[in-house]
Amino acid sequence: MIYIDKIVRSIEKLCKISSSEAFEIAEKVLSDKEIDEKDCEFILKCDDPIDLEVLRLCALYLKLKTSGRYVTFICNRNINFTNICVIGCLFCNFSVPPGHPSGYVMPLSEVERRVREAWSRGAVEICLQGGVNPTLRLDYYISLLKIVKKVDNRLHIHAFSPQEVHSLAERENLKVRDLLKILKENGLDTIPGTAAEILNDDIRKIICPRKISVREWIHVITTAHSLGIRSTCTIMYGHVENVEHIVQHLKIIRDIQKETHGFTEIVLLPFVHHNTRLRKLRYCRPGSSSLYDVKMCIASRIYLYPYVTNVQVSWVKLGRKLAQYLLTCGANDLGGTLMEENISHAAGAFEKEYITREEFVELISSIGMIPAERDTLYNILRVYQSGNNSSALSGTTGSSLAI
Ligand code: SF4
Repeated sequence: MIYIDKIVRSIEKLCKISSSEAFEIAEKVLSDKEIDEKDCEFILKCDDPIDLEVLRLCALYLKLKTSGRYVTFICNRNINFTNICVIGCLFCNFSVPPGHPSGYVMPLSEVERRVREAWSRGAVEICLQGGVNPTLRLDYYISLLKIVKKVDNRLHIHAFSPQEVHSLAERENLKVRDLLKILKENGLDTIPGTAAEILNDDIRKIICPRKISVREWIHVITTAHSLGIRSTCTIMYGHVENVEHIVQHLKIIRDIQKETHGFTEIVLLPFVHHNTRLRKLRYCRPGSSSLYDVKMCIASRIYLYPYVTNVQVSWVKLGRKLAQYLLTCGANDLGGTLMEENISHAAGAFEKEYITREEFVELISSIGMIPAERDTLYNILRVYQSGNNSSALSGTTGSSLAI
């Protein structure tokens, strides 16, 4: 069992032998003050084991304060409806250029079949994302939305990255605002905050030179938020960026959130390098170390508190065991069951494409946390009470989170 007062006592004890920088961050955390960019940089560069433990406990303290011992996951399905893309990001091994023999556009009947299958397995969210395919027009995107809602109107549609929205608006000669309004009228509920990678134009010029700029990403996201379309936000790290770029990225996220309150969560995405062109760059790191994953999780939780309340770690990219450990470093969400995941796997991720509810429940309860199934907006749909494994899956529905 993890108790918040025990954690506070441990932080206070360790602070007696920690550095003054770690002590100051702990002081801010325990007195509910936000940390600044210098503090965030300190966390990401920290390599002293005592300091790191102080900071980890601070992140865990804030996680417990925000969502108690609950760890959430969502039953969802990813549908990557086309892999044809003209953007050609160097870290992407999922897409192919137009005319490539393995390019595809998923027939609408196949999309419908996958949505029906997901619905029958209890999915509450359908995530639709694809490449930037110049042959696909607005009517195709509208058909995708309509198909999902036809299967069941209660299915939440989480779809179309800021890159897809920006490019489709250009193709259709529409303003981003007008396009988003049309998509919303046809069933779009939220958008993924992907295509963020690192929000620094110098880094983007190296890793994804044809992708939208930082300004354009912010424009799509803030326009969506202003229309009541909430989004996630993401960060892909462990390649050519340095700590200063990460801090800049997190600052952009925090500043937006202070204005719009539109982000539902931050999703931490370590770079999966194996099959990518980016890894061939001499100065590109082969992904992050597990210690860096830990520091990213701690820094995101503490720096973004109390503005972004949910920190999601990707079991697909990290592997289950590391994702599980990060639940003790400030993360509170394990993401989705997915049912299929093409993008990380094309880049060489080793985890399988689907994780069952039972596996999520086991993963979470085995570290003394309480598994809870959520919807896209973090409403709790079902809590799996801990106890013996056989009763764990009976669950209780409609519970609200309490510390
Ligand atoms: S990451 Fe997205 S935009 Fe970039 S090449 Fe892959 S599919 Fe295209």
